[in-house]
Amino acid sequence: MSLSHNNPQEFVLAVEGLTVSFDGFKAVNDLSFYVDEGEIRVIIGPNGAGKTTVLDLICGRTKATDGSIRFRNQELTKMKEHEIVHAGVGRKFQNPSIYEDLTVFENLELSFPRGHGVFGALTFRRDKEVIDKVSEIAEMIFLSEHLHQRADLLSHGQKQWLEIGMLLIQDPALLMLDEPVAGMSVAERKKTAELLNRITKDRSVLVIEHDMQFVEDIAHRVTVLHQGKLLSEGSLDRVKNDPKVVEVYLGH
Ligand code: ADP
Ligand code: MG
Repeated sequence: MSLSHNNPQEFVLAVEGLTVSFDGFKAVNDLSFYVDEGEIRVIIGPNGAGKTTVLDLICGRTKATDGSIRFRNQELTKMKEHEIVHAGVGRKFQNPSIYEDLTVFENLELSFPRGHGVFGALTFRRDKEVIDKVSEIAEMIFLSEHLHQRADLLSHGQKQWLEIGMLLIQDPALLMLDEPVAGMSVAERKKTAELLNRITKDRSVLVIEHDMQFVEDIAHRVTVLHQGKLLSEGSLDRVKNDPKVVEVYLGH
């Protein structure tokens, strides 16, 4: 049995003893970590360390072999993927999944969560609500000037921002991003860091990233994975100077 924390309710996410075995190979092995409300946590580690698998486990795409994942005190390991989304966990994959032949506006509009009981009399009000929300999000993701542009004409970085916007419009309490700045220019990386720092006023973010400048710009704390296990954890300064981390990850 893994260690238990005394006050799980102060964490947005409490991962304890998490293990997944693929035909006997433990891609994630007895992993525990805790993410605070409003925190940006970055997961780093060499290729194959199990980083993406951790996100797959949290979002319910992969079933855990053992351990627990509590999100605001709901046990995610017992929930289906769509229930986890509904509970407030949004996840962005490495390749953007946007509708290339639709505009920025239409992509955001499609992601707007539709409530129940939408009847004729409410249509006008709802339309205004959607338009206002789409404008607000477009501004946040630096795409206000491109609202009516087709998504396939956006730059790679702008497509990544659009997908972040499509998650933000659903207002997740926990946003998970897998290598969001891969392929971005330095200027785009800076703006992405700015964006993530702004959205944590009322949500937590879990990011996998290799770019150490970007990690420095966003991380409140860093979790280092190696061979499915926790190798080191703490401030970026702390883990950067941890000899174990230098040896397996930063030293080459
Ligand atoms: P990272 O994101 O840190 O590079 P991954 O989480 O993608 O690493 O992968 C960790 C290890 O688990 C790798 O050795 C990978 O091949 C293996 N793995 C991931 N998913 C599966 C799966 N569905 N079936 C079998 N092996 C997997
Ligand atoms: Mg990965």
